[in-house]
Amino acid sequence: MIVETSVDLKAKLNEVFGYKQFRGAQEQIIHSILDGRNTFVIMPTGAGKSLCYQLPAVIMPGTAIVISPLIALMKNQVDQLETMSVNARVINSSLSKNEINRVKRETLSGDVKLLYVAPESLTKEEHLDFLRQANISFVAIDEAHCISEWGHDFRPEYRKIKSIIARLGNLPIIALTATATPKVQQDIQKNLQMEQASVFKSSFNRKNLYYEVRPKHEIKKQLIRFIKSHKDKSGIIYCLSRKKVEEIAEFLCVNDIKAAPYHAGMDGVDRIKNQDDFLNEKVDVIVATIAFGMGIDKPDVRFVIHYDTPKSLEGYYQETGRAGRDGLEGNCIMFYSYSDILKLDKFNKDKPVTERENARILLEEMAYYAESAVCRRVQLLHYFGEYLSEPCGFCDNCIKPKEKFEGKSFVEIILQTVEECQERFGITHLVNVIRGSKNQYIQSYGHDKLSVYGKGKEHEAEFWKSAIRQCLLFGFLEKDIEQIGVLKLTQQGTTFLENPKSIMLTENHIYELENEEDLENDQTATSYDLNLFHILKELRKKVAKNKGLPPYVVFQDPSLEEMATTYPTSLEELAQVNGVGLGKVNKFGQPFIEVISKYVEDNDITTASDVVIKSAVNKSKVKIYIISQIDRKVDLEEIAEAKSMTMNQLIEEIEHICYSGTKLNLDYYIDQVLDDDKQDDIYDYFMNAGSDSIDEALDEFEDEDTTEEELRLMRIKFLSDVAN
Ligand code: ADP
Ligand code: ZN
Repeated sequence: MIVETSVDLKAKLNEVFGYKQFRGAQEQIIHSILDGRNTFVIMPTGAGKSLCYQLPAVIMPGTAIVISPLIALMKNQVDQLETMSVNARVINSSLSKNEINRVKRETLSGDVKLLYVAPESLTKEEHLDFLRQANISFVAIDEAHCISEWGHDFRPEYRKIKSIIARLGNLPIIALTATATPKVQQDIQKNLQMEQASVFKSSFNRKNLYYEVRPKHEIKKQLIRFIKSHKDKSGIIYCLSRKKVEEIAEFLCVNDIKAAPYHAGMDGVDRIKNQDDFLNEKVDVIVATIAFGMGIDKPDVRFVIHYDTPKSLEGYYQETGRAGRDGLEGNCIMFYSYSDILKLDKFNKDKPVTERENARILLEEMAYYAESAVCRRVQLLHYFGEYLSEPCGFCDNCIKPKEKFEGKSFVEIILQTVEECQERFGITHLVNVIRGSKNQYIQSYGHDKLSVYGKGKEHEAEFWKSAIRQCLLFGFLEKDIEQIGVLKLTQQGTTFLENPKSIMLTENHIYELENEEDLENDQTATSYDLNLFHILKELRKKVAKNKGLPPYVVFQDPSLEEMATTYPTSLEELAQVNGVGLGKVNKFGQPFIEVISKYVEDNDITTASDVVIKSAVNKSKVKIYIISQIDRKVDLEEIAEAKSMTMNQLIEEIEHICYSGTKLNLDYYIDQVLDDDKQDDIYDYFMNAGSDSIDEALDEFEDEDTTEEELRLMRIKFLSDVAN
């Protein structure tokens, strides 16, 4: 094969792609391919993998085959290449016979530089015959991690690729992936029989990305707060189910965030529209299942939020990789709960045993990652076989570190146990030995006779597991690549055993407890602004006096508290406060928002309209039914009967409606059950009472023959008249 000089390569780069410089190892990779060597490229998303095979495909005579798992992705690349006048074609199951025949003709005539093929099309005999006739320059296998059962996206048809390529002759292979743990990397090379390949692995560290894990607690409030504090910025929210995607997209829209859903169950037209709207910034936030984002090249995604805990760290890392591709801000927030992990495990229950076991190991890694208080970046990079010697300073665990403790003696016990068990066991067994558990394995191996047996029984299993994980991160232990789960000592570990040193360990997060702490803090943090509350109370007195009404009629205390929490500064915002309907807003609202606006300005308060969460459905069906029946003057008994409620329950519902600010006219009913004088008496009472308490009213009307029901009905009438 012809070896081009680097000057020529740069010129070609500029000529075809319009770029002046190669990025990272692109140039060496391209040389490797031009030299006809098998080449393995592991580079994070966005680093520029495609160019590594596109440019040599253009330079070399013949056609390069590109195997890629996703039809949409292929189409995308072909379109892009067309704009650069590079002749590229696709063969996949979405084409008609005629279209396929045309592509084949063009390829055989030597016009096509890149031919994208789906793996399942590759296995078809008719296509194979054709490929044997074509002049193929090399084969590129994109998303090569799909080969490995140990990856996060295993595709069985990928495992056949090598034998098919072999039937086409001795072609050089370039395999590319954005995720590969050491285990997956080995799997890929073995399967493609390219153990001797030139491997180009670039660092996975994305320094501009900020990682944070949050407990799944008051998640909707957290979402709104986060998104509103990143106003007008693009972001992706990943959910596991289509239903959740729809729900969250709607929830965000209701809260005035420009959001749209994206999932595979949507009609194709809508889906493409939402994707385009996101790319063109008509939509700020796309809520998606993981199907979204492959091959999407939006450089300024500022946040990626995982609403549900992801299935694997590989998938998670790839998805977060879509943030901040331009090297600027990128926030990666994951919501974690162990119940998500259990749920995900249940989803796998119908899978074959080994597949389920593999999936379980990936899930376990996910849970460890989330619960660990060690630097996120240290953990993530370690997972992909990279060692970071210092905590990053730019993740939640670095910014809010948990207290550390001296771990020298614990590390010693762990390393000694690994050694005494002859480096042949996994974490569970090691912990059992350390804690002196009794089971048949321990006995059959005679491990209850070891010097370390039971040395650490005063600590829980979770404590030891966490400490062992930290030994891995420190590089004292390593995972055996051949035998999944088995831990071995490294040189560094042996050195430590010979000469133990001080070493600091961290305890895991216990999110359930942290939740409670947060809740307590939250109460103080979100408890209302006392100053403002008093100002509002004074104002309420004044307004009530002016209107000749008792203060409680204007706004009730809980409404004032909420105002002193959320600082509404417009009539619309005020109408969001519980117990404040449009009637009240129009009657009493103006002076309140004026006072609040001034207060906000004087005290430099950022209004917390972000914490006002509107839910998509705010009136229950029953309430709507009741309101419409009352409008039509239907007897209350009849309404109660129709909804199988007691009169008492119905009145309670009506009170809810009334207290949330809706005006109801019950005169037609009250006139039937109470004479005018009685009505006037009760009305006057409420007008002058200090509160709207029914008990107090009952005391007042004790001597007369007035029922609680009558008092409650009159209270509704009264509030509807004067307050709503
Ligand atoms: P990956 O497949 O690794 O996720 P892509 O191949 O999609 O990444 O490339 C990401 C972006 O970087 C694309 O917009 C691509 O055009 C751009 N790119 C690739 N190589 C270069 C280069 N040498 N100079 C400038 N931009 C580049
Ligand atoms: Zn960190």
